[in-house]
Amino acid sequence: MSTQLDTNRIPAILVINSGSSSIKFAVFDDSDLSELVKGQIDGIGSHASFKVKSPDQRIQEAITWPLELAPQDHSAALKIILDWLHHDLSHIQILAVGHRVVHGGPKYFEPVLINDAVIHELESFYALAPLHEPHNIAGIKAAREVFGDVPQIACFDTAFHRSQSFINDTYALPRAFYEEGVRRYGFHGLSYEYINSYVQQYLPAYFGKKTVVAHLGNGASLCAIEHGHAVATTMGFSPLDGIPMGSRSGQVDPGVLLYLMQYKQWDAQGISDLLYKESGLKGLSGGLSNDMRTLEASSAIEAKEAISYFVQHVQQEILSLAAVMQGLGVVIFTGGIGENSIFIRGQVMQGLQWVGVEVDERANLGDAAILSTTSSKIICLRIATNEELMIAKHTHNLSTALLTCSVDA
Ligand code: AMP
Repeated sequence: MSTQLDTNRIPAILVINSGSSSIKFAVFDDSDLSELVKGQIDGIGSHASFKVKSPDQRIQEAITWPLELAPQDHSAALKIILDWLHHDLSHIQILAVGHRVVHGGPKYFEPVLINDAVIHELESFYALAPLHEPHNIAGIKAAREVFGDVPQIACFDTAFHRSQSFINDTYALPRAFYEEGVRRYGFHGLSYEYINSYVQQYLPAYFGKKTVVAHLGNGASLCAIEHGHAVATTMGFSPLDGIPMGSRSGQVDPGVLLYLMQYKQWDAQGISDLLYKESGLKGLSGGLSNDMRTLEASSAIEAKEAISYFVQHVQQEILSLAAVMQGLGVVIFTGGIGENSIFIRGQVMQGLQWVGVEVDERANLGDAAILSTTSSKIICLRIATNEELMIAKHTHNLSTALLTCSVDA
């Protein structure tokens, strides 16, 4: 915590979301957490490209490298981002770096200052999130190389769900499995936490009610929130469970997997590819697309069936989570589909009319946050999520608290 403040520069928070072949980043002014820029490097290790946008969506930088000049690993990609920040955003000083980390295991229920011991522990969660965690940690290690002793904070996608009761956190397997970590961790926690805090701040009349948030994007899940705390969620041990997604299956009878292994000799890699990459909207649409916009625009019967399956499962899970809470006051749509698809929101809400949703069709067509009529028994809202801002808030709060502690000591 020895970062010297440079009074000539704007103190800033850098947020990093490191994936398998991409690093997304966003920079926030530390004083008011307004966004300064957002960007990403895609295609690390192959045909990489770099793009930076200002908050008004103006492109500030766009580079596509020939293969021989492209960054080959996360460390090289982060150095490019840092160089860009030095040259093009030289009026800022990075005070702290916040990282999105998919899995916090059973232990982490809040953000944590990263040190060697934390990294070691997060590496032990690789088996819990093999497709994401190693890339998150690669980003953390690269950032530590590049930023030296600037504090780095890990923010977990599983943390918000740690308030779940044992009943909603477990499977009906022998208890030893729960103890060894086979639990319903849930994901998209940073999105749910952001939506929850947004409602508390800007729509307080609806805060604390029995709420289901539907995060509908390429990855999709729903979360029941009561009194501001997570109660249950549709994703479980892995981000495969629950509703169908772009190319992930959602809930499947485990008997199907036994059948594939025992009678069709499928191995773990084949099953993993099937469930993560070939199923969901993509699989149901006969390989047409994992992208909801493409499916909505298609007249193919398979596309229509994929959409119907998606909509029905969203409705089913909303009511299943309502059963857990013994009631439902608010439904919130977020994520790429939830925020933007008039059709999907409309279909989901119409299918819930029988339990008391009254749709305001005009509001659903426009930009309004409230999508239900004033007489609707269940309030429906549309709120744009902002996981990067949630990470920036956590990073600001924790790094400020640590600084205060070290000054007091
Ligand atoms: P996300 O993963 O949150 O970025 O969401 C990506 C998903 O949102 C993709 O399936 C997109 O097709 C979908 N999406 C984005 N904009 C729209 C839109 N205007 N209408 C329908 N789906 C959309």
